Amino acid sequence: MQCEICGAEIRDKPSKVMIEGSELDACPRCAQYGTSTNKRKPVSRKIAPVAQQPSAKKSRPRPARPDPLADIKEELVEDYNNIIRDSREKLNWTQEELALKIKEKESLIKKIERGDIVPEDSVLKKIERALDVTLTERVGEDDWSGDNFSRGTTLGDIVKIKRK
Ligand SMILES: [Zn+2]
Repeated sequence: MQCEICGAEIRDKPSKVMIEGSELDACPRCAQYGTSTNKRKPVSRKIAPVAQQPSAKKSRPRPARPDPLADIKEELVEDYNNIIRDSREKLNWTQEELALKIKEKESLIKKIERGDIVPEDSVLKKIERALDVTLTERVGEDDWSGDNFSRGTTLGDIVKIKRK
C-alpha cells in the first residue's frame, strides 16, 4: 500500500496518523509529522486529594462520675450494743424475745449485745425495726479525712468500731 501523504510504498504496516483532521495511512517517515491516532491522550491523573480526615477521636472513657452518695457511708454507731440492750430492756423484752421478733438465734443477740460480733446489715436492719432505734449514722467520707480526727476520732477508734 502507499503512503497517503507522500505516495511512497509502505512495506510494513502503515501508521495511522491524523493530518489536519484526517486519518491517513502514512509511511514511517511521514508518520512522525502527524499525530498518531494510537496515541492516547494522556489521562489527566489528578489525584483527588484524599481528605485525610482525622480519624474520629476515640472518645476517652469518661471518668466515672462520682456518685454523690458514694461518699456517704453508714457507719455502725460505736455503742450499738448498748443501744440495742437498753432499747430491748425498755420494751421489757428478753434477748430470746428479740431473737424471735427478728427470727434470729438468741445466742446471736447475746453476742451482739456483748459487742462480740458486729451484726450483718440485714440483722442490723431487723433489730432497728424491731426496737425502733437507729444504729447507724451517715458519715461523709470527707468527715473522716480532717475535722473528725482533730475532734478526737482516731483511726484506731474507727478500726475498733469495725472490729467489734
Ligand atoms: Zn509518506
